[in-house]
Amino acid sequence: SALVSFVMALALSIGYWSWKQSYGSTRAHIKSAIKHKEFIPFYQPVIDTQKNEIVGVEVLMRWRQSSGELIPPNQFIPFAESDGLIVDMTYSMLDVMADDIEQAGEQVKPLFISINIVPEHLESDQLYLYIKALKESGKLGKHRISLEITERQPITDLAKARAMLDKFYAIDVDLKLDDAGMGYGGFSYVQNLGISTLKIDKAFIDTIGVKDNFNEKTLDAIISFAKKSGLSVIAEGVETESQISYLKVQGVDLVQGYFFSKPLEAKDFFNAYQNV
Ligand code: C2E
Ligand code: CA
Ligand code: CA
Ligand code: CA
Repeated sequence: SALVSFVMALALSIGYWSWKQSYGSTRAHIKSAIKHKEFIPFYQPVIDTQKNEIVGVEVLMRWRQSSGELIPPNQFIPFAESDGLIVDMTYSMLDVMADDIEQAGEQVKPLFISINIVPEHLESDQLYLYIKALKESGKLGKHRISLEITERQPITDLAKARAMLDKFYAIDVDLKLDDAGMGYGGFSYVQNLGISTLKIDKAFIDTIGVKDNFNEKTLDAIISFAKKSGLSVIAEGVETESQISYLKVQGVDLVQGYFFSKPLEAKDFFNAYQNV
């Protein structure tokens, strides 16, 4: 049995060693990708269905590897978020975004530009200073920046986060709650963080029109909660005309989804939304 324990210990350490190797190499790979500006923004419009016009855009990260291959976020964001690398990846992507927007000039009307952030971004004033400098650079023109934070990620010190957020609010940057309705954070975030908008997750939109569906009732409850709390609502993952009609009846005019457009690379986005 000494032999058995020895073999097991050996197997475990080999397992750990190879895990550490691959973890380390993913990390190194991402760090070099940050340096080479391989994390690029894609852009998805937010549409006001009442006015039938674009009002905003969400910036969604893609990894364009040196081979040209485009990697979607679900393949690298979870690792990057748990590792903390996401913080620097965001700045690297925002540098690219700033150039995209500067290049587009007045091609599109003034929009809110939503950026996905993580709680770590609120723990120092680095992001605040970055965005303040970006605004002062004039590259954004008349566009406004908006932050999206998901209620899935815990914020350990709400008061501290709020103090940081107040600095953003003072420079006309607002906060939207992403994936609203999916987790526990929601109510306390709305109460404490000065949120302007709930973004309702696709999972709820998918239940529209499905009979006797519990989640459709949840959707209605989220919408009425938002209205009573004076919050705006954006419906995400809208794919059909009938979802749009349902949402209109509920008083939700702001929608985002494949029905209007998938996320697009900069040149396609700015060409598609000229003079809209
Ligand atoms: P999210 O923030 O909830 O973004 C919305 C996701 O839904 C996007 O997926 C978008 O492409 C997708 N989507 C929008 N409309 C539709 C639709 O009608 N049908 C379907 N099937 N999907 C739709 P994407 O771009 O793959 O991003 C996935 C997630 O990765 C994002 O979810 C967000 O949590 C994360 N992510 C993306 N970019 C960033 C980033 O820059 N920073 C951070 N921290 N997370 C990011
Ligand atoms: Ca988002
Ligand atoms: Ca979302
Ligand atoms: Ca989502």
